[in-house]
Amino acid sequence: MLNRRAALATMATTASLALALTACGQNSSGGSKEDKGSAKGGTIGIAMPTKSSERWIADGNNVVKNLKAKGYKTKLVFGEDDPDTQVSQIENLITQGVKGLIVAAIDNKSLNNVLQEAADAHIPVIAYDRLILGSKNVDYYASFDNTKVGELQASYIVDKLGLKNGKGPFNIELFAGSNDDNNTKYFFGGAMSVLKPYIDSKKLVVRSGQTALNQVTTLRWDGATAQKRMDDILTSSYKSQRVDAVLSPYDGISIGVLSSLKSDGYGSKSKPLPVITGQDAELASVKSIIAGEQTQTVYKDTRKLAEVASTMVDDVLNGKKPQVNDTKTYDNGSKVVPAYLLQPVSVDKSNYEDVLVKGGYYTDSQLK
Ligand code: BGC
Repeated sequence: MLNRRAALATMATTASLALALTACGQNSSGGSKEDKGSAKGGTIGIAMPTKSSERWIADGNNVVKNLKAKGYKTKLVFGEDDPDTQVSQIENLITQGVKGLIVAAIDNKSLNNVLQEAADAHIPVIAYDRLILGSKNVDYYASFDNTKVGELQASYIVDKLGLKNGKGPFNIELFAGSNDDNNTKYFFGGAMSVLKPYIDSKKLVVRSGQTALNQVTTLRWDGATAQKRMDDILTSSYKSQRVDAVLSPYDGISIGVLSSLKSDGYGSKSKPLPVITGQDAELASVKSIIAGEQTQTVYKDTRKLAEVASTMVDDVLNGKKPQVNDTKTYDNGSKVVPAYLLQPVSVDKSNYEDVLVKGGYYTDSQLK
């Protein structure tokens, strides 16, 4: 610890010297990014959960880009949704001598031991998008307002069905994310805070009867698992009834649910597709929204998240306190992890052009 403190103190002095010199119009580093501080030029390990979803590929690339611009080298790994693989990948990164770690966990409770190894090697850890539970060795958390994500999905359903104008009753089915992802309970909690009053007043009817979180989760956010569950629900609970809305927490799940609905004959004039939400503004889902199939998604700008997380690790390594805007919500069981939360945005056919294309996330030609 002493060594790290001493190193941080030296870095802080170097950083203030650099600032002072820059203020005098001189460039202390002579333009080279490597010699701005002793952690600069070092390597940051980035562990992402999977390549099976575009968002994590974009997250990984954006973090790399940001860190390189700050003068670091990077090692980016993807755990292919297998918790054991992710643990050994992080172990390898530690062995390779990374100076900092940015981790989007696969299983939020599987990283305790490996994070202890990181702490023993004085490597700061930023939890990326998904909070890591049960470990005091998580320094900061960069994410979006996860409760708001669920609220946006549910409010969209309420508005689209006209529930506030007294319309209904409507049939709805509920899907949640992976039970080993800490975000799942925030997404579902946010959504249910909006939907529950309508479920209680029977303006929304869940014909499957599956309303508890442990009945509606989808292991590893897998679209095929969701498709199978939707098939089962349609067979058991919708013989002569129609589904009017589906709360889906993630675009990959929405695509699975849509496949199930289409093979049951939904998507025609007499049997229209239900209102169906999503998350991440993945390319296939934005195209599906444009084609009038999926109805909505929640856009989370991975460029901004990558910037926040990269700045956090850079600040910690330079003895600076990272900027946070939430010090209460994210208790991981060992400590409340100081967090910076970004704002998610609801996207549908009416605003995708403004938000996603004008915002530079996609080009028009990608969406064709
Ligand atoms: C992320 C979501 C994503 C989901 C599945 C969650 O932890 O916050 O943006 O849709 O994982 O990858």
